[in-house]
Amino acid sequence: MVHETERVDTGGWAPPELIEIPPVFVWPPRPIDVFKFVFGWNGYLYPYTVLYAGLGFLAWWYLIPDFAEMKNLRFDWIAKLFLENLAIIIVWTSFWHLRLYVQRAQDTEYKFNKRWPKNSDLFLFGNQFYDNAFLTLVSAVPIWTAYLVLTLWAMANGWIPYVDAREHPIYVALFVLLLPLFREVHFYAIHRLVHWPVLYRWIHSVHHKNSNPTPWSGLAMHPAEHVLLFSSILLNWIIPSNPFMVVMHLLRISLNSVVDHTGFGKVVFVDGKAQIDGASYSHYLHHRFFEVNYSDGVVPIDRLFGTFHDGSQKAHNTMNERFKKKNAKEPSAPTP
Ligand SMILES: [Zn+2]
Ligand SMILES: [Zn+2]
Repeated sequence: MVHETERVDTGGWAPPELIEIPPVFVWPPRPIDVFKFVFGWNGYLYPYTVLYAGLGFLAWWYLIPDFAEMKNLRFDWIAKLFLENLAIIIVWTSFWHLRLYVQRAQDTEYKFNKRWPKNSDLFLFGNQFYDNAFLTLVSAVPIWTAYLVLTLWAMANGWIPYVDAREHPIYVALFVLLLPLFREVHFYAIHRLVHWPVLYRWIHSVHHKNSNPTPWSGLAMHPAEHVLLFSSILLNWIIPSNPFMVVMHLLRISLNSVVDHTGFGKVVFVDGKAQIDGASYSHYLHHRFFEVNYSDGVVPIDRLFGTFHDGSQKAHNTMNERFKKKNAKEPSAPTP
């Protein structure tokens, strides 16, 4: 008999520890663990939150036109932003893809699924890479750009609340710090929605064809799911914002989706001497078992709603019980 505390086999490398609730959300407080979680390497801030903030700053500084120019929707600046987003996503995704899947720099070390992805007729053009790249470049980037353009245009015209970053730097820093938490809750909500059977069949199944995801799978979704995913930016229509906050918010969604689908828990550089976290094990388990871990676990929202899978046999049994109950509830087809 399999002991309940044992790990469930998930097809390849798994982190040595079960997925835990971040120490920020546990009681009694564990201040040292909180400090390590927030400031430690491969923690809440470093490298990704800080990296996305830095890239967002550079993008805003060098790529975003002045308010005067953005007051009117004109082809030139909109096309420029579209091409810039296209270039950003191609460079970022290719970086991970080339290193991990073409060069295979670390072979299957830290790969959640020890098999390499296989093409099948499920994919557009019968090829996972073409399917994923097509959906990313032809749907994700235009929809990401549309949200960016509409938000900046509305801001340039004074239709949505604006805050000057130089006058309120602490407010802007707090936004950078808290955005990942908001993203988790937003993503959980839209993700549960698209797992509703009708929407799953029409929309979300496009993303779930990637049972063995690669970096290009991150934004490989049905256009309707892109509309939902990037709708997170509507937060900046409600709270006082500025172009940096808008650019960084959208950039974070795109870049993080790619990292979360690298398929590798850790990515190693310099002969293994440097290591950064890649995809979350939590989202990999979602791709493997579907109706668990709708969020990435930074906020314990899955635990709250009973959809958490920490990688243990016990969580696996709970999940199977839940599936059995759900199937029992579904009305059986009338017999002729
Ligand atoms: Zn996914
Ligand atoms: Zn899903």
